[in-house]
Amino acid sequence: MRRRNRKEDQNVDTHTSTGTKRALVVGCGLAGCATAWWLHESGWEVVLVDQRTDPYPSSYLLQLDNVAIDILRRMGAQDVIDRTTYPSPNTALRWCGQGKTRTLSFDTRDHRGEPWRLADRSPFLSAIFAHVPSTVDIRLGVRLDSLENFTDRVKAHFADGTADTFDVVVGADGLHSTVRELTLAPESASVYRNDVTHLWINVDEKLLDGQAILAARNRTALQIYPYRDPARTMILAALPVPAGTPLDHRALVDHVADTITHLGVDLEPIASAARASSDIKTTQFSQVRLSRWHTRRVVLLGDAAHCIDPLSGMGAHGALLGVVSLTAALQRYGSATTSAFTRYESEVRPFAESAQSVTARTIEYISRTQHRPRLTTVLGGLGDIARIIPSLLHKKNQRNSLALSDIRETNRQAA
Ligand SMILES: Cc1cc2nc3c(=O)[nH]c(=O)nc-3n(C[C@H](O)[C@H](O)[C@H](O)COP(=O)(O)OP(=O)(O)OC[C@H]3O[C@@H](n4cnc5c(N)ncnc54)[C@H](O)[C@@H]3O)c2cc1C
Repeated sequence: MRRRNRKEDQNVDTHTSTGTKRALVVGCGLAGCATAWWLHESGWEVVLVDQRTDPYPSSYLLQLDNVAIDILRRMGAQDVIDRTTYPSPNTALRWCGQGKTRTLSFDTRDHRGEPWRLADRSPFLSAIFAHVPSTVDIRLGVRLDSLENFTDRVKAHFADGTADTFDVVVGADGLHSTVRELTLAPESASVYRNDVTHLWINVDEKLLDGQAILAARNRTALQIYPYRDPARTMILAALPVPAGTPLDHRALVDHVADTITHLGVDLEPIASAARASSDIKTTQFSQVRLSRWHTRRVVLLGDAAHCIDPLSGMGAHGALLGVVSLTAALQRYGSATTSAFTRYESEVRPFAESAQSVTARTIEYISRTQHRPRLTTVLGGLGDIARIIPSLLHKKNQRNSLALSDIRETNRQAA
């Protein structure tokens, strides 16, 4: 991992000595790296920090829809797309009835015939990290500890004892965001959980017809995707486990393998490989639900603001949409950061809330963790969507992204 441009004495305040605006971006995930790229492109001096020295340890699949792909292209990251992602295969919805396995296949091509793409998260994010311009000041292994808010700046204190001053702080620090905890709400008040546990299993086994599979059975939601190397497959299962119950990994894997077996004989090798796999991790269903994503000079972005849950396959879309919207709003409103952040939030919140509603209601319908009639879950979901429709239709939200050329044009005019 690179560590670049580290200043000798970071306790010295460097704020605005050159008149260039300075941003601290906390977190080197997709949201943080993309924010660093876009802010740098629009003339900001950017410091990008991550508490980890190697921020991309785990390798499971990340879905990139066409909005995410388009934004990456506008970042000039076509080579990253070509090297580290591959077209999402056709997807089959599988279910069993009256002793028969039924399949409904669909593909994820858009109106231009372009498919969504899948990325092995670790090499993909490493390549995006390498794409961040070399003039961005990257500090790895540096944890943000606290923030001091002043009217015209924010002072950030890091765990290594250094401090630095910025015009704006962007919290792109993920589900367990420190920036959110320091400025807006503790995790206990901002993260929604619902007794659903995810089991991620990598297996060295091929999906026979190469199609991805989605299924719901035994109160369990299943997503099964081939890796780029078709000899490897990822299983993501979401199943009900009441809060506080100790996780019995063996029992969870057996439950998932049994569920897969019931979906067809062609999946038996995948089920057996799941039982034998040691490449397993568990996470909890989690959504960040906050009534506000910003304070005067501090703003949240990506999972820190609105984690939708990896099940949705929409994390990359939400993060990248937010980056483009935030950069454009900062360009438009200059030092009026509250107006910029309000604008950004109004553009991205309708997408985030609708994606959260669909994801949570679907998983709660399948897993029946909410102990209420399923009709209530469906009606609640329709209610959520109805509540969001006015903001989705609002004119300014239809322009929810700004072309890079627009940012360059604004720069030219400012110069
Ligand atoms: C380990 C992991 C595995 C994931 N796997 C998948 C997957 O397989 N499929 C999928 O669809 N989605 C996955 N996700 C979620 C997906 O990556 C995100 O939805 C999407 O990429 C947007 O993430 P983000 O950049 O907002 O946050 P993240 O990717 O979570 O990045 C946040 C970064 O902030 C850093 N950070 C946190 N606190 C501090 C602090 N105080 N100081 C400095 N740095 C800090 C963290 O180290 C982390 O690198 C995963 C997330 C994580 C963290």
